[in-house]
Amino acid sequence: MSILNNIKTLKEVFWINPKYESFDNVKDSLEVSKEDVLDAEKRLNRFAPYIKSAFPETASSDGIIESPIAKIPNMKKRMESDLDKKISGELLVKLDSNLPIAGSIKARGGIYEVLKHAETLAIEKDMLSIEDDYSIINSDRFRDFYSNYTIQVGSTGNLGISIGIMSAKLGFKVKVHMSRDAKEWKKGLLRSKGVEVIEYASDYSKAVEEGRKLSHMNPKSYFIDDENSKDLFMGYAVAAFRLKKQLEEANILVDEKHPLIVYLPCGVGGGPGGVAYGLKLVYGDNVHCFFAEPTHSPSMLLGLVTGLHSEICVQDFGIDNKTEADGLAVGRPSSFVGKTMEKLLAGEYTIDDERLYKLLQALLDEEQIYLEPSALAGFMGPVYVSEKECIDHLENATHICWATGGSLVPKKLMEKYYEKGKMLNIKRAI
Ligand SMILES: *Cc1c(COP(=O)(O)O)cnc(C)c1O
Repeated sequence: MSILNNIKTLKEVFWINPKYESFDNVKDSLEVSKEDVLDAEKRLNRFAPYIKSAFPETASSDGIIESPIAKIPNMKKRMESDLDKKISGELLVKLDSNLPIAGSIKARGGIYEVLKHAETLAIEKDMLSIEDDYSIINSDRFRDFYSNYTIQVGSTGNLGISIGIMSAKLGFKVKVHMSRDAKEWKKGLLRSKGVEVIEYASDYSKAVEEGRKLSHMNPKSYFIDDENSKDLFMGYAVAAFRLKKQLEEANILVDEKHPLIVYLPCGVGGGPGGVAYGLKLVYGDNVHCFFAEPTHSPSMLLGLVTGLHSEICVQDFGIDNKTEADGLAVGRPSSFVGKTMEKLLAGEYTIDDERLYKLLQALLDEEQIYLEPSALAGFMGPVYVSEKECIDHLENATHICWATGGSLVPKKLMEKYYEKGKMLNIKRAI
């Protein structure tokens, strides 16, 4: 198969999923259901008074952790001229980079799973009932209680930040097992919040494996398992219900003749998978989701193309899993997400690191939006889809690039990213 050859030789590829099906044919055979997502949304609403009280920066949204959408017409023009390509339809960005507390898409899934665990423990001990005003959790009584328990997670950086900050605020002991890709500033930020950071010289899969092992040895420790967790997935999926409201408020129509096309940077798969699943629940066949991965870490794509999911990793194909896009530096995909998305994903593409920097620079120039390299992976999608014309009614399409992180990047580092982008050339054969 030539696509496998192109992936192996680190070429950028665009893949249309041959198993893509109508949502109605698929939805009843999945391991997850709409009720699970509604349940997660309700839980986040229960916790809103606590979030508002513990994180004053969420006061304006009443303790709901959500990000804005924005039209980015200047970026659209810039990409069209830099790449000498046309984008059909309107271009929007979803600014998860600005999510409060954690500054990345992980503020959805990661925080949700910590809150769910905290709720379960407190209800078991009769300290809490779901009718309570959850702001009572922001108290020494609850912090003392949670200090008897540990939460652990393996991370390339951002999941550790979201889980670390939230767990530490609740009073838990927290250990974050960080892969070699994790940026120094992310480790420093966590340590400053009282989180124990354990560093590994190996990649993400190994950090997860070690963390899982250590956590299982301690009966009072809970491991948040990014490779398998349905709770993380549900936390991400809630985004779709909220996006629906935002699009309605912006008078953006989504129907049979006005497709919504969403481009999601993908690491292990939970974040983009959860969001995409939620969007399918809301919009069915009127939404089309594409994942984007670095050319050096195309694990989800290999899993989907071969149908082998987590049974294979990029190293099996001689690929090194080394990328500046730390949030996407995952060599083995989640098996649960791959299987769930098998017939729901419209397609995938890969992007090389140089292009991420170039897009970072362009977005900053044109729209004054600051993203980390991983978060730019979605931006090539509208160009490819417009060129291949693989979706109907493209002239009426709304493209949303999911900007998955960036607001916490230190200013000095952001300047370096920008300068790097300036030196590179975005234009190449696609
Ligand atoms: C984690 C992350 C992703 C991808 O999420 P996965 O659940 O790992 O697929 C994308 N972008 C950023 C910035 C991330 O931190």
